[in-house]
Amino acid sequence: MEKGLNKYEAEKNKNNNKAGRQNQNVEKKKKTIIIIFALCIIALIYTMVRLNMKNFNETENSVEVITETSSEKKDEVLNLNKTVYLTFDDGPTEWTTQIIDVLKRYDVKATFFITNPEGREEIVKNIYKEGHKIGVHSYSHRYSEIYKNRESFWNDVEKMQKEIQDITGEKTDIMRFAGGSKNTLAIGEEENILSKLKREVKSKGYEYFDWNVSAGDGGGALTDIDYITNNMIEGIKRNKTSIVLCHDTYENVVYGIENVIKWCNENGYKFRVIDKDEFIYHF
Ligand SMILES: [Zn+2]
Repeated sequence: MEKGLNKYEAEKNKNNNKAGRQNQNVEKKKKTIIIIFALCIIALIYTMVRLNMKNFNETENSVEVITETSSEKKDEVLNLNKTVYLTFDDGPTEWTTQIIDVLKRYDVKATFFITNPEGREEIVKNIYKEGHKIGVHSYSHRYSEIYKNRESFWNDVEKMQKEIQDITGEKTDIMRFAGGSKNTLAIGEEENILSKLKREVKSKGYEYFDWNVSAGDGGGALTDIDYITNNMIEGIKRNKTSIVLCHDTYENVVYGIENVIKWCNENGYKFRVIDKDEFIYHF
């Protein structure tokens, strides 16, 4: 019996040992599963943190880009604030050279809407060489001829354009109507010729420019220097961006312009050349 018992005990112990080993195995498996599970959680947390950081960085980058864009746009707006476009019509003349000298002295660039330059081609070349902009005004500047009809107008413009291209090697894309885009002198065969011409300007490859400040220098050689200086300064004060009309056909404009440049420099204005992608002014 005892033997049988012992046998039973032995069998029991054996079974117990087996169960113990099985339990140990289960424990081991549990531990392994827990460790794997923990590692998975750690890996998951790590991935999430990395992803968040990446997103954060990307957000930061995009904020930077937006900031850059905004400041660029802001600069563009600021560029036109207190900006003066000096424009000279009806040249080239003997006074043009002096005006170029004044502009050079103050490192100012301006725009010249020119007429027939015959015998004064060198002056036009100088305007161009000094970095100023040249635009078409009119070859003949004779109202009765140019505003006779649309064909005569564009013939006159193209004649002027050809001269500009021959002298400078470059075509211009800007123009100013003789007398401005609204004037009572444009009377010819066609009614409302200026309105018709204005509608054709773009298709002819130009943009036209009027002015919002006038020097009032049309009174001839005797126009007072203080008078034209004041007209320009008062006009510039009224506008955020000014296109100033002068004529390089009078000596006093040379001195008036110097006064205006000095005043503008003292009062934080800057000068730019006319550009059709920058600031357009039509009456
Ligand atoms: Zn003119």
